[in-house]
Amino acid sequence: MSSITRIEIPIPFPIKSVNMYFIDDSIPTLIDAGFHTEEGLNLVKKALEEKGAHFPDIKRVLLTHGHLDHVGLAGKIQESSGAEIFIHPRDRDKCIWNIETYAEKKKAPFLRFFQEGGLPENVIKTIAEQMDVRFKSFFPGDFNVMELHGGDHIAFDDFTLEVIPCPGHTRGSVCFFDRENRRFFSGDHLLEKITSNPVVELENRENGTGYKSLSRYLESLDLTERLDIKEVLPGHGVLFQEYRKRIREIKKHHRTRQEEILRVVQSHSDGNGGMNLFTITMRVFPELRAWDIFLGMSETVGHLEILEEKGFISSSMVNEQRLYRPEN
Ligand SMILES: [Zn+2]
Ligand SMILES: [Zn+2]
Repeated sequence: MSSITRIEIPIPFPIKSVNMYFIDDSIPTLIDAGFHTEEGLNLVKKALEEKGAHFPDIKRVLLTHGHLDHVGLAGKIQESSGAEIFIHPRDRDKCIWNIETYAEKKKAPFLRFFQEGGLPENVIKTIAEQMDVRFKSFFPGDFNVMELHGGDHIAFDDFTLEVIPCPGHTRGSVCFFDRENRRFFSGDHLLEKITSNPVVELENRENGTGYKSLSRYLESLDLTERLDIKEVLPGHGVLFQEYRKRIREIKKHHRTRQEEILRVVQSHSDGNGGMNLFTITMRVFPELRAWDIFLGMSETVGHLEILEEKGFISSSMVNEQRLYRPEN
């Protein structure tokens, strides 16, 4: 039977490490491509060698989504082996762009989001600087990708992986499900110890396509709950089994957070048209600083969208900021 090896790579973020999985098959395959550092590269090489394989042997890379900690080494792998790299088309642009040409273009929607959210100028400046560093240090470089779609079946010697679209954490997040052996490669969609953040999709916000990351994430959780899974092989942390219990916990977490955010909006009483996203976020997550404020705002705005949809709150643009207020 094709063996599956988890390769854990350290990353310089609070989450500490990321997984990729090596499937020893007649088409040697990786699920996800780790993080782009020398240390990461050496770790992967070493882990493959322990399995009697080498970097240039990799023929296929299946990406769960387009975040930097999951696509980082894809370019290096392709360079040395010519591997085919697959990703869902909705996450394609997250990893395919040229740092020289697009850094400013990539930053622009973030800056608009921060302005609309009422982030103070000095905090925007700090975050923008952090983004520059991230782009320069960790961007994996251009590589060619092929698309995969929900329902695709990917054949291995002894099993098949089915592509399950799980939009939410990112718009193009997918999981890979081995139905026969009930193994589920969950990427960042479902983690045991971390409540993954349905990250706001800034491009789509501006296009007005109405994609709402948290709503879609909760729908994807419902779908996952209905699958018959024995083992979850996550993007961070070790394999776990009690996925339905974990899904219930995540849903409860989001319900509690939503009630908390509603209380914050309802506490507003100074009559100047409402509270901006930054103020609400900092009431809910007072400990956040710099880039993490973006993640907090991202989660908060997801809940605000749902609360507005349910009619508990309303919002409008006032002096280039979106202000939220309770509905009576
Ligand atoms: Zn991610
Ligand atoms: Zn991740």
